[in-house]
Amino acid sequence: MNSPYTSVLLIYTGGTIGMIENTETGALENFNFEQLQKHIPELHKFNFPIDTYQFDPPMDSSDMEPDMWRKLVRIIHENYSRYHGFVILHGTDTMAYTASALSFMLENLEKPVILTGSQLPIGVLRTDGKENLMTSIEIAAAQTKEGKPLVPEVCIFFENHLMRGNRTTKMNAENFNAFRSFNYPVLAEAGIHIKYNNNVQIRSYKEKQKLKPHYLLDTNVVVLKLFPGIQENVVATILGIEGLKAVVLETYGSGNAPRKEWFIRRLCQASAQGIVIVNVTQCNAGMVEMERYETGYQLLQAGVVCGYDSTTESAVTKLMFLLGHGYTPDEVRDRMNRSMAGEITI
Ligand code: ASP
Repeated sequence: MNSPYTSVLLIYTGGTIGMIENTETGALENFNFEQLQKHIPELHKFNFPIDTYQFDPPMDSSDMEPDMWRKLVRIIHENYSRYHGFVILHGTDTMAYTASALSFMLENLEKPVILTGSQLPIGVLRTDGKENLMTSIEIAAAQTKEGKPLVPEVCIFFENHLMRGNRTTKMNAENFNAFRSFNYPVLAEAGIHIKYNNNVQIRSYKEKQKLKPHYLLDTNVVVLKLFPGIQENVVATILGIEGLKAVVLETYGSGNAPRKEWFIRRLCQASAQGIVIVNVTQCNAGMVEMERYETGYQLLQAGVVCGYDSTTESAVTKLMFLLGHGYTPDEVRDRMNRSMAGEITI
């Protein structure tokens, strides 16, 4: 049940959802929010006010930068008391990074922040954008009988599924079900009704918490994906990058890596120099267990910290967040072992 005064701020950053085909080149280009509204007259059917904020110019999410995350945090913070929920229209390519970053940057969030987008532009007949947008707005406004928000966390809604934002990954470049939350159950499913999953822990609403927006991020982070045949000079060059503070090491299976002497030695040296190395699996689902095999255990010995069942997107943005706040390497390692916004299962 919504109170008659429920209101939602719709923030339009760009992405396929608001694109139109250039008749000459055939390429998709951004159009502005008025045109978006023209294509979704149903927006007027909600019985509560929906205000809009548009990025000018709208951007393809491939151009997304931490500065844009800061901008989103600022918009939400400045408008926090005026709205019951926020919907962010965003390109799908980097949506999981933005959702992860916002989950850390919006401390004490007690209102829904729902990111959505689409695989087909809104002007196209078979678009998935309309459904995604309408349902996201409904979720952002959804309240309990007592008038408390049902989902006070940063989420992605896509093709019928509401997912915890920092658990999502874009896993399909073509299908409408572009996102999955492999290691955490969906928070809600949208069919005829929107069914909230009572068996899963949705962030609980805590009365009178004050939103604490964070803007500090340090981007001296790199993702190193292992593959059979990876050469020492490649690993050494990456670990030797000037100013590098953290590495998300994408390992095999349950957190395994080559046992080669040079590899372990290079990781040991980097850890000793204060570079934080986090072990995240290349597998979509499942968890890193470094004690399980000798190959993982060696990494532990080299000072590598466990990434548990974190997505790469979440590990990267969490590291940016922690490093940005000036924690020492050991403090960062310690916090990587703790859940800050439901991003890992310990
Ligand atoms: N390149 C687009 C973007 O991420 C793709 C999309 O929106 O689906 O902005």
